[in-house]
Amino acid sequence: MLFFLTSEKWALFERRIGCFQARCQTCQGEHWQLLFHMWRTRGSQISPPTPWSPIHGQTYQVRCGGCFTPAMVGHPQEWVPFQAPNFVHEHHHPPTVADARYTTIAIPMMR
Ligand SMILES: [Zn+2]
Repeated sequence: MLFFLTSEKWALFERRIGCFQARCQTCQGEHWQLLFHMWRTRGSQISPPTPWSPIHGQTYQVRCGGCFTPAMVGHPQEWVPFQAPNFVHEHHHPPTVADARYTTIAIPMMR
């Protein structure tokens, strides 16, 4: 029982942090491309992981607003100023539990 209570629990969270208009490589449409920050935190059975727990790995993902195809990207500072001049920073979206449809390709990229 003690083991159960102290066993590690992981959780994956995401938060939309910006968007920009661009042609999607998958559907070829001009759509809003949504940038998400995704991160993983660790807790236990008695102290479940929250979005504000210490981060154990994070990554960034862009999702097409037209076809919802996700693509992994580097840290925004590395490409936004050069590749997305019309980028809109968003600070009002709350963190949510990451959508399972998008975590499969994100987890291997988490550092
Ligand atoms: Zn698309």
